Amino acid sequence: MKKTTDKIIIENLEVYANHGVYEEENVLGQKFIISAELEISTRKAGISDALVLSVDYTMVCRIISTFLKEHTYSLIEAAAENLALLLFAKINELKGIKLTIKKPWAPIGLPIEYVAVSIERRWHRAYVAIGSNMGDKLKYLEGAVSAIKNDVNCRLKRVSDIIVTEPYGPVEQDDFMNGCMMLDTLYTPMELLRFLQKLENDANRVREEHWGPRTLDLDILLYDDLVTTDEELVIPHPEMHKRSFVLEPLNQIAPNVVHPLLNKRIRDLL
Ligand code: ATP
Ligand code: CA
Ligand code: CA
Repeated sequence: MKKTTDKIIIENLEVYANHGVYEEENVLGQKFIISAELEISTRKAGISDALVLSVDYTMVCRIISTFLKEHTYSLIEAAAENLALLLFAKINELKGIKLTIKKPWAPIGLPIEYVAVSIERRWHRAYVAIGSNMGDKLKYLEGAVSAIKNDVNCRLKRVSDIIVTEPYGPVEQDDFMNGCMMLDTLYTPMELLRFLQKLENDANRVREEHWGPRTLDLDILLYDDLVTTDEELVIPHPEMHKRSFVLEPLNQIAPNVVHPLLNKRIRDLL
């Protein structure tokens, strides 16, 4: 997803809460100090001077404060991770966040100003190909689409029409149903792969022969402008530009997207 350089900054919000590895920390509680840089375009609000076009800082501070008071984590790493997830869920316009949680009273027995964790998370734009050629194909495809739609780490943006294609490769098998999805995700590429593999497994996919029949196949085509060299996860998908069953549905939802290695638009690759 495109970066915006606009930021809304919340600096050193104090919250008394109960996070920590020690029981006393969970019972007695202590002070936490939170800073957040919210990557949000302030342009419309800036031009119009209208509150409805901006993010309500009071609301953001309340979300942070309430969340940290109502939960107890051993690690501020976990507190930060889950708080970021909640902010992405609550604030539609939020593109990215840098979140810092300081612990000024950390029980470490040495004079120190604070310990802290700081994380940066953002939405990434991914394109995923979806295919099935076994059993109730449409049901498997729809199941995967709705699982992605319901995952807090994903925002499904577009789904192409499903096309029927003849099988590809050396193995004798049934026709395929293929489509493509555009989604925004908080997952790293590897986390997204694991998530998609879980959906494949949930669809009773058995990994037998390569390119053989399958109930559900989910391939990551593109992830931002990323180019990987990893064997386990090759992005852009190495075959995508040669396959009309990928390019056709992809062209329907993202004709102007540029393949980062071939430097061509999907419409031109098709
Ligand atoms: P193809 O990748 O040519 O479409 P396939 O989908 O039939 O073939 P699978 O058996 O589903 O291949 O996957 C084999 C391995 O491919 C997976 O275990 C995964 O680690 C790896 N892989 C590499 N790059 C990707 C990617 N971009 N998306 C999904 N899997 C990938
Ligand atoms: Ca595939
Ligand atoms: Ca695959």
